[in-house]
Amino acid sequence: MGTDIAQNLAEVRERIEAAAARAGRDPAGVTLVAVTKNMPVADIEAALAAGVRVIGENRVQEAREKYQEIGNRAEWHLIGHLQTNKVRTAVWLFTMIHSVDRLELAIEIDRRARALGKHLDVLVEVNIAGEASKFGVAPEEAPALVRAMAPLEGLQIRGLMGMAPLLDDPEEARPYFRRLRRLAQEIQAENIPRVMMEDLSMGMSNDFEVAVEEGATMVRIGTAIFGARRRNA
Ligand SMILES: *Cc1c(COP(=O)(O)O)cnc(C)c1O
Repeated sequence: MGTDIAQNLAEVRERIEAAAARAGRDPAGVTLVAVTKNMPVADIEAALAAGVRVIGENRVQEAREKYQEIGNRAEWHLIGHLQTNKVRTAVWLFTMIHSVDRLELAIEIDRRARALGKHLDVLVEVNIAGEASKFGVAPEEAPALVRAMAPLEGLQIRGLMGMAPLLDDPEEARPYFRRLRRLAQEIQAENIPRVMMEDLSMGMSNDFEVAVEEGATMVRIGTAIFGARRRNA
C-alpha cells in the first residue's frame, strides 16, 4: 500500500511538472495538498515518507484525531465546509483554511485567532459554477466579502479557492478555473489594504492538470494519490 502511494505521488508530481511546463510556469509555484479525508493514519505516514508536507482534511473532528498521531510533521489545511462552532479547534489545528465563504465565519475565525495571537491564512471559497450542492460565495459577491474581511487582523486573506463541476472531460473545467483566476485578478486590482491574491486553490484528481495550466498555486488531490476513499475505521 505504501509503495502504491509513493508511486502514485511520483506520477502526480510528474503530471504537475508537465502541466506547469506547458504553461511556462515554475512547478515550484504549485503546492500539492494531499487530501487524506477518510484515509487512515498509515496512509498519511506513507505520504509523509514520500515527501508530502501539506495535508488537506475536510472535517475538523477527523483532522483532530489524526493530528494526535501526526502532529506538526505535516502542515494541516482545512478544505471542507466549516461550521462556526468548530472554529475554535480549527484555528489551533490548521495553518490555512481554504473554505471561508461568509462574513460571520470570518469574524469568528478572527476572534478565535486573535485570542491565540495568530494570523490565520485563509482563502475565500467561491462557488464558481453556481452549483446549489456546493458551498462558496457567489462570484459576484466575492469582492464585497473580501473587502468586508480585509480589516480582520486575526486572519490573512491569501487568495481564492474553487471547484469545477464534475465533468467527463477535464478540459471542460477550464472556463471555471479561468473565471476564478480572473476574479482574483479583479480583486487584486482593487488594492484592498492587507489583502493578498497570490494563491489559487483549484484542481482535484480529475482536473488538476488543467487547473495548473490556468494558474493554480495549490492543487488538492486525494484519489489520484490514495485510491478510492475508504472509511477511516
Ligand atoms: C475530497 C476533496 C478533494 C480531493 O478530491 P479527489 O477527487 O479525491 O482528488 C479536493 N477538494 C475538496 C474540497 C475535497 O472535498
